[in-house]
Amino acid sequence: MTIGWHFDNSYSRLPKTFKENIDPVAVNSPEILILNKDLANKLDLDFSNINDDDLSKIFSGNKLPEESNSIAQAYAGHQFGHFTMLGDGRAVLIGEHLNKNSERFDIQFKGSGKTPFSRGGDGRAVLGPMLREYIISEAMHFLKIPTTRSLAVVKTGEDVIREQISKGAILTRVALGHLRVGTFQYIAAKQNISDLEILINYTIEKYYPNIKSSKNKALDLLKVLIEKQTQLVIDWMRVGFIHGVMNTDNMSISGETIDYGPCAFMDVYDPKTVFSSIDQLGRYAYDNQPKIAKWNLTRFAECLIPLISKNEDEAVTLARDALDKFEKNYETKWLNMMRDKLGLYGEDKEDKDLIIKLLNWMHKNKADYTNTFVFLMNRTIKNSKIYNNEDFNLWKIKWVKRLTMFNNSQDKSMELMNSSNPMVIPRNHKIEEALTLASNGDLTLFNKLIKILKNPYLVNDNDLEFMSPAPHGDKKYQTFCGT
Ligand code: AMP
Ligand code: MG
Repeated sequence: MTIGWHFDNSYSRLPKTFKENIDPVAVNSPEILILNKDLANKLDLDFSNINDDDLSKIFSGNKLPEESNSIAQAYAGHQFGHFTMLGDGRAVLIGEHLNKNSERFDIQFKGSGKTPFSRGGDGRAVLGPMLREYIISEAMHFLKIPTTRSLAVVKTGEDVIREQISKGAILTRVALGHLRVGTFQYIAAKQNISDLEILINYTIEKYYPNIKSSKNKALDLLKVLIEKQTQLVIDWMRVGFIHGVMNTDNMSISGETIDYGPCAFMDVYDPKTVFSSIDQLGRYAYDNQPKIAKWNLTRFAECLIPLISKNEDEAVTLARDALDKFEKNYETKWLNMMRDKLGLYGEDKEDKDLIIKLLNWMHKNKADYTNTFVFLMNRTIKNSKIYNNEDFNLWKIKWVKRLTMFNNSQDKSMELMNSSNPMVIPRNHKIEEALTLASNGDLTLFNKLIKILKNPYLVNDNDLEFMSPAPHGDKKYQTFCGT
């Protein structure tokens, strides 16, 4: 029963402190529901000689591949600002798979049962949220945003008790790696400097071999992560993605978007948008994401201090210098990203003002963030009446004038806009519709949604309904953690 796994489990070779060996807890009657053939191809997995029954056993963890080495990873995290020791409470890393190009991927089962880190939880996951993670993570991938991906969803045939009784499921998550800022916090909290050194060397070996011979590895690792996280948040801001729970345990060292819980895409432009039911103070609101990224990076820097320099004052100064560059770097990248969205080449000193004026107009007039840019690209959208507005037209005159600066052709501007502005994002109401049908066994809309999201920068006229925001707005849309 082989599908071509080729494991080399580097994380499981780390010292005992880093993990607990634990197998997935077998489930009653696993049934494969979704299998991601595109991703399987990328991994060089082959399902041609395998039936659904065996696939169900494989992707539920009922039958583990021989070379796998199943572990729960230890980590800590600041959750809404409060420090806690955590760890994989409902997931196991079954191994690191190498494809034929020797590219390495973590293969993790999410919802695989209790582990020593479960802290009273049942270790399980609910079908709806796992299908939701599948949709959104795949959408992010095709939006060209670094992300963990989803290889399979299996129904467990078991009930999971939350506020109501729900169907259980297991998601196979594929990532460049599952190290988190929280992994460093866990090891740093144990105050064993040699483990910290092991973790830094391991991280550099696995993710950032280009800084292997650096003179100050800890400092360079900090700088690399600042750069990665800055770029990631810029990408989120570009498409209106709100992660929803940017706790330090959900910030990946690989720079991938990870942990799709209460995340959602913003429809109407409002920088204070929050969907998460528990985020009362808006800590993880849309426009707070860069600030929180810096806050998390500062927690990361704190872990590295003992290895940045033996002289603590010097280490703090070096780390602070690196962190202090965050805002300026972010602003430069953000301006460039927004220039791309508007098709603007070159730099003009009035650009920031032009961009802010458009965002303020969207906010005041409750315009849809995604569709405003689509409208500016002269594409068909439903409900374009809103743009028949004096202030908008005055803004547009300035924009058109700016477009012609630096002698650029309209085609080149359009090309830039096309590659920066998705025509379709996973709209919350469409996801909900697809999930309701899917949990009753009808995957038609789920599959259609996935198909459309695979080409987010190009939508044909028959699929315009997937571009429209919820008919009565999204203000009351709520998302939930830990489901
Ligand atoms: P999350 O909100 O998914 O990032 O999870 C935060 C922490 O809670 C992690 O340590 C998870 O492993 C743990 N956790 C979430 N749901 C469960 C569950 N049903 N059973 C056990 N642990 C869980
Ligand atoms: Mg998490």
